[in-house]
Amino acid sequence: MSFSIPMVDLCGQYQKIKDEVDSALAEVLSQGVFINGGKVQNFQQKLSLFLHCRHVITCGNGTDALQIALMALNLRPGDEVITTPFTFVATAEVVALLGLKPVFVDVDADTYNINVSLIESAITPRTRVILPVHLFGQCADMEPLLEIARRHNLYVVEDACQAIGAEYTFSDGRKCMAGTMGNIGCMSFFPSKNLGCFGDGGAIFTQDDALAQQLCSIANHGSTQKYHHERVGLNSRLDTIQAAVLEVKLRHLNEYTAARQAAAATYNRMLSGVAWLKKPLVASNCTHVYHQYTLRLDSGDRRSALQQKLTEAGIASMVYYPVPLHLQPAFSAWGYHPGDFPVAEALAQTVLSLPMHTELTEEVQRKICNIIIGK
Ligand SMILES: *Cc1c(COP(=O)(O)O)cnc(C)c1O
Repeated sequence: MSFSIPMVDLCGQYQKIKDEVDSALAEVLSQGVFINGGKVQNFQQKLSLFLHCRHVITCGNGTDALQIALMALNLRPGDEVITTPFTFVATAEVVALLGLKPVFVDVDADTYNINVSLIESAITPRTRVILPVHLFGQCADMEPLLEIARRHNLYVVEDACQAIGAEYTFSDGRKCMAGTMGNIGCMSFFPSKNLGCFGDGGAIFTQDDALAQQLCSIANHGSTQKYHHERVGLNSRLDTIQAAVLEVKLRHLNEYTAARQAAAATYNRMLSGVAWLKKPLVASNCTHVYHQYTLRLDSGDRRSALQQKLTEAGIASMVYYPVPLHLQPAFSAWGYHPGDFPVAEALAQTVLSLPMHTELTEEVQRKICNIIIGK
C-alpha cells in the first residue's frame, strides 16, 4: 500500500542535508576503514557531549543495545526484569532470549509509560532490573522509579530508543536526557527513529566506568584485547558509514526535535475540541520529542473507521501497538491472560499514530486533520 501522505519522509530530510551527508560518506569511502573508523569515535564523543553522559558505546542496533545492557549485569537464568507490556517487542524479547523472566506492569493511562505506582507490588526476591521504556518520545516517571530501584537494590536499564533528546526534570531542578538516568540506557538509530542512520545502528549509554568497560567488551566478542576473550560476547558494531551519517544528523537533532514539537503543536491546535479523541498528554516534568504523535480514540470501532477514512484519502496511519506483549504468542510461556493489564489492552484497541516527521507542513497537516474531523 503506498500513501500520498506517508508516516515518515526520510528522502525529504536527506535532500536538505545532502551535501553534508554526501561529503561525509565520500570521506569514509576514500579512507576505506569501514569498521571502527575514526567517525565512530567522533560520533561517540559528540553524542556523549550532547547527552552529558560519560560513556557512549555504539553497537549494531537498539535490540543489541538492550541485550548487551542486560548481559553486563551478571544476571542468572530466571532473574526477573520488570517492564511494560505496551512497547515494541524487542524490549521483552531480549529478556526472554537471555533466559530471564519478563514481569510486566501496566501502563499509565495518560502517558502510556510504565505506571510507577504499580512497580513495587511486582517486585519479588528474584527481581534484579527495572526496564522502563520512554514510549513515543517522553520519559517514564524516572524520579520515583529510581527511588524504588534504590530502595530494593535493583538495576535500571532505560529503553530510550524512541526518546533521544527528551529531557526529564527532577524535583530539585536537575535535568537529564532520556537514557542517562539509570545504570544503562539503550538507543536505536533505525532510519525512522528521531536520530536515524541509513541502515541499522544503536548505542549504549552509561555514567559508570566499570560498566562501560564491560559493555564494550560484550559488544566486541567479550574482548578488550584482540584475540583474548574474557567472556562470551557478541559481534555488534556501528559501521563507519552509519557513524558518518549520524555525526551529520546529530548536528541537526535540535532542529529536528523542534520541527516534531511544532508539528505536534499544529496537530493539537487543528484537533482541539474533538470530543471523541484524546491528544498526547505531556507530563509536566518531561519534554516530549514526538517519535510518534499518537491519538487515543473513544472506541475500537471509532479507530477502525478513522483509519479506513485516512487510508481512502491516501493518508498513512499506524497502530503502535495492536497487541500488548503479554498477549503475544511468543510470550505465552509466562502465563499471562487477557485482563491482566487493562490499560495496555485498552490502548492496543484504541490508539492511532498519525504521520510524524521533520518535513511535515501545515498544509499537509491541514489535509490530515480535515479528514479526521470530517470537513
Ligand atoms: C526501535 C526500538 C527498539 C529496537 O531497535 P532496533 O534498532 O530496531 O533493534 C527497541 N525498543 C523500542 C522501544 C524501539 O522503539
